[in-house]
Amino acid sequence: MLLPKFDFHEPKTMKEACQILAEYGTKARVIAGGTDLMVNMKKKILSPKQLVSISRIPELKKLDTSGDGIRIGACFTVAEIISSDAISKQLSALCEGAKNLGTPLIRNLATIGGNIGSARPAADLPPSLMAYGAQVVLNCLSGERTVSLDKFFLGPGFTAIKPDEILTEIRIPAPNPRSGAGYINIGIRKGQDCNIVNVASFIELDKNGIIQNARIIMGCVGPTPLRAGSAEKILIGQKPGNELFSRAGAAASSESAPIDDIRGSAAYKKDMAGVLTRRTLDIALNEAAHRQ
Ligand SMILES: Cc1cc2nc3c(=O)[nH]c(=O)nc-3n(C[C@H](O)[C@H](O)[C@H](O)COP(=O)(O)OP(=O)(O)OC[C@H]3O[C@@H](n4cnc5c(N)ncnc54)[C@H](O)[C@@H]3O)c2cc1C
Repeated sequence: MLLPKFDFHEPKTMKEACQILAEYGTKARVIAGGTDLMVNMKKKILSPKQLVSISRIPELKKLDTSGDGIRIGACFTVAEIISSDAISKQLSALCEGAKNLGTPLIRNLATIGGNIGSARPAADLPPSLMAYGAQVVLNCLSGERTVSLDKFFLGPGFTAIKPDEILTEIRIPAPNPRSGAGYINIGIRKGQDCNIVNVASFIELDKNGIIQNARIIMGCVGPTPLRAGSAEKILIGQKPGNELFSRAGAAASSESAPIDDIRGSAAYKKDMAGVLTRRTLDIALNEAAHRQ
C-alpha cells in the first residue's frame, strides 16, 4: 500500500508549528511517532496534504515532576514512560498501560500525545490518565487552553483538538497519600493486537480507611473511554472490601455499552468490564495501603 502524496514540515519551535497549522487549517495534520497516522494514511482513511512533524520541538519531550503534579510532554514516548522511575513510582497504572502497548519497535516511536490524539476507544493510555484526573494542554497561535481528559474524547478518532491546535502537555495531579490505581487490559494475543476490554481504577482513602474518592474508566465498551459513575458512587464513603468491589464491578458492567465485533461478543465484553473493574480496584487498594 502506497502513502498518498503530502508535504512534510519539520518545525523546531512551537510558534513555527502553530503558524503552519494556522496557514493550512484542515489540510494539515500533526504527526508525532506516526505509528497510528501512517497506518490510517496507507489505508486512505486520512489523506492530509500537509504533515507537521512535532518530534523536533524540544519542549514537547520534557517530563517535569518538580511541582505539585506531573507534566508529561506530548512527544514523550511510550518507552520513555516505562523507563521513568518517577512515573513508575507515582503513576504505576499509566506505566502498566505503556508496558502493554504494542511491540518494542512501536513503543520506541509511539508518543503519549499520539495515543491520546488518535482517540481509539481501545487505546492503552487514556483509561489510566483519566483515572488519575489528567488534563491536556492545547496550544495555538492565539494562546493556550486546558481541557480535562473527561471532556476531550468525542468519538472514535474525534477529539476536542481544533485543526490549528497542538496537544503540548499532559498534566496529572500528584497522587495523594493513601491513594492507588490499577490497570488491566485483555486482548486476543500480546503485542500486535487491539484490546478487547481495558479498565483503570483509582481510589483514595481517608485516614480511617474509608474511600473518599474513586474514578473507574472502561475502554473498548463505548465510542470513547467510559467513566463508570454509578460504580464510583457505590464506592465513595464505604470501607473497601471484596463484597463492595463486586458490587462496583456489577454496576460498571451494567454501565458499559460494548458492541459485538471480531474481537468478542458484547456480552463477553460486558462481563469482562465487571471483572476487570473488581481486579483493578484490588490493585488500587493494595497500592493505597502502601502509599503513605
Ligand atoms: C503494530 C501496532 C500495534 C499497536 N498496538 C497498540 C496497542 O497495543 N495499544 C494502543 O493503545 N495503541 C496501539 N497502536 C496504535 C499507536 O501505536 C498508538 O496509539 C501510539 O501511541 C500513537 O502515537 P504516535 O506518536 O505514533 O501518534 P501519530 O501516529 O503520530 O498520531 C496519531 C494521531 O494523533 C494526532 N496527534 C499526535 N500527536 C499530537 C499532538 N501532540 N497534538 C495534536 N494531535 C496529535 C495525529 O494527528 C494523529 O491523528 C499500535 C499501532 C501499531 C501500528
